[in-house]
Amino acid sequence: EIYCDNAATTAIDSEVIQAILPYLTTNYGNPSSGHWAGRKVKEAIASARQIVANLLGAEPEEIFFMSGATEANNLALSGAIQANDITHVITSKIEHKAVLQTLARYEKAGDIEISFVRLDDFGNVDLKHLENLLNANPQTLISLMHGNNEIGNITDIYAIADLAKRYNAIFHTDTTQTIGKLAFNLKEANIDFLVGSAHKFHGPKGVGFIYINKNNKIKPIITGGGQEKGQRGGTENVVGIVGLAKALELSYRSKAIVQNHVTGLKKHFISRLDDLTIGGITFNGESRSLTKSLSNIASVAFPCLSSGSLVNRLDALGIAVSGGSACSNLADGGSHVIAAIYKNPDKEIVRFSFSKFNTIEEIDHIVKAIIRIYQSDRIEEQSESL
Ligand code: PMP
Repeated sequence: EIYCDNAATTAIDSEVIQAILPYLTTNYGNPSSGHWAGRKVKEAIASARQIVANLLGAEPEEIFFMSGATEANNLALSGAIQANDITHVITSKIEHKAVLQTLARYEKAGDIEISFVRLDDFGNVDLKHLENLLNANPQTLISLMHGNNEIGNITDIYAIADLAKRYNAIFHTDTTQTIGKLAFNLKEANIDFLVGSAHKFHGPKGVGFIYINKNNKIKPIITGGGQEKGQRGGTENVVGIVGLAKALELSYRSKAIVQNHVTGLKKHFISRLDDLTIGGITFNGESRSLTKSLSNIASVAFPCLSSGSLVNRLDALGIAVSGGSACSNLADGGSHVIAAIYKNPDKEIVRFSFSKFNTIEEIDHIVKAIIRIYQSDRIEEQSESL
């Protein structure tokens, strides 16, 4: 079996499992308890917060643990809109549904107006248009993602942060696909809110975080026992938090090596696809690029085969890839990202996403499987015409 769907989720690193084991066994106290059992885990959470803050160039007081990027995105947007009386939000049509649906809710209620920034033919944010939108309406909330989960496009969030500062706007960015992969120094960037999810970087599922710039304020969604400085009530997911910090530490420690390995896989995959005699294979967005797109994502449109059919047939051969994102598979009705960029409604998307655990041999195996699928199709076609 080959797992090539690492933008959906990743395997937990064995070192992460070692790190969380004590919190599944002996260290089971409630961090809010004042006794020794509580103190032990309270310290573990504090240490995890410090690790995450150090790795991102933030302060520990700016990191809040959540159940994942979905919750963190919800909090950033709802919290910022409510706490700052935001009435105008600029976003793009290729954001994750956790962003788009949250904003749509506020728009429907009549609380905000949404402007969608223009995208070029490759799905890149048009910064000139963004500036025009800001010029017309400063004191806006901008929500634009760093790395797109379906096509891999990387957006220059630092240029956007500069624009936000110039126009007195608040800037939220969904960095779920780039945390642990690209370097951050949040002390220097004018970013107000940023989110991540541990299972995208070899940590456990169901845990993530939000960075809230100390100069900003937010209104919590989940109220209760006052945990996470009142930003998220509820007994902390200690196991998840410890695992998240360990996974992030490992990711940044081996960042250069992993980046190199994964880029090699993508390069090899692209060149093998280029060698095929099947004509008309195209890449979505900037996915063909090794610099403008995430090195772990290759988003491909294959001719004559619907993405659903190719994904299922690869699955039958033991190869896990996805059509669009796991979320758009769930939502049915195709990829909103592809629909936002391409006029051709039939443009297909099959996403291959790599991790440090994939090998060159696996890539060769996948390409052979694709050839087999095309050949078997041709055989069927021929037998039908006999
Ligand atoms: N944003 C992006 C860009 C993502 O790729 C994902 C995961 N598909 C999320 C948010 C949501 O993360 P989670 O499911 O861990 O809450």
